[in-house]
Amino acid sequence: MTKPRAISSLAEAAATLPADLRTAFDRIFHVSVSLGQPAPPSTMQAWIVDHFGSADAVRRQRIVKVTNRVTLEGALFNPLRAQRPIEAPHATASLENEIDNIRTEYQWEGCNFCHPLTATPADVFGRVRGRHSLTASNVAKCDGWHAVIVFDEHHPLHFSADQVADYLDTGQQWARMAHQLDPEACYPFFLWNCLWRSGASILHGHAQMVLTRGMHYARVEHWRQAAIRYQQAHGANYFADLVAVHRALGLAVDHGTATILASLTPFKEKETHVIAPCLNDDLKSALNWVLNTFVERLDVQSFNVALYQPPLTHTAENWDGFPFVFRILERGDLRSPTSDVGSMEFFAQSVVVTDPFRVADALYDESTEGIS
Ligand SMILES: [Zn+2]
Repeated sequence: MTKPRAISSLAEAAATLPADLRTAFDRIFHVSVSLGQPAPPSTMQAWIVDHFGSADAVRRQRIVKVTNRVTLEGALFNPLRAQRPIEAPHATASLENEIDNIRTEYQWEGCNFCHPLTATPADVFGRVRGRHSLTASNVAKCDGWHAVIVFDEHHPLHFSADQVADYLDTGQQWARMAHQLDPEACYPFFLWNCLWRSGASILHGHAQMVLTRGMHYARVEHWRQAAIRYQQAHGANYFADLVAVHRALGLAVDHGTATILASLTPFKEKETHVIAPCLNDDLKSALNWVLNTFVERLDVQSFNVALYQPPLTHTAENWDGFPFVFRILERGDLRSPTSDVGSMEFFAQSVVVTDPFRVADALYDESTEGIS
């Protein structure tokens, strides 16, 4: 099969898939293409060529809309923008200054998160001490159980595979301890907001863990219900089909028992999923691989990570076949005062610049196993 080189030829690529995969693609995705045709005055010519390379490219723009029929999530890709090289924010120097300023402000003794035992509260059951992190009870909570996983490392972009694995293990251990005290609180959610564009209020590296009761968080429950409906309608596991379709299109990278996907319906730039049946070493290592690719190869400085996972105990709902899924995406240039989300993202369908095929190119590496 000839792999498509761009999101603009997704429909053509899907048409060439073997019949069973084509069926799965059509069950999951809806693709439509529209043409944007601005008529710029001659006075804009120089500006257009300067910014987009050619006036013709601007006069005829193919916009690709991809919608996941199962989860009703979707993205609008404008190849005019997507075909441009991924821009580095060039903000490294100012970021390092910012991190140094914090140290200077605290007279080089570190920030509050550098001293979590004296500057952060514990939970009623105490704290979980990991190899590279320590939990704190969040002062202003999102939910009844809400921990901060404070990294030993102050610098938010300095992390290793062992550190990432520890942050995840520490969060899971915290969730088990909270669940033991409060058995009805059984739905865990791990999140990692890195630097201010992502919503992080503290610069020092940290992740968070929340544990809820009654039902899972709305977005996670939405995926569960969607997957159940898919199973009932087609007699197939939604996540297995999702992986198979991405793999067939050249958008999947196998990492042991975990699979990394460059999502066809990213909520924002470069959204990548990592899927495995449980939170095993492959899944932890794959998350580290994705984050390293983002930071080192795609010049990402601010990102969001979330982990969708089933509850810690048996519940009334059907979680059969629901895997562990990381969702990772970029949050834009640290220097930019403009938000990367607006009315389209909140209320319609996300507008995305980065072509998932370029994300897959970056995630591809000869050291990983079974490259698709
Ligand atoms: Zn610190």
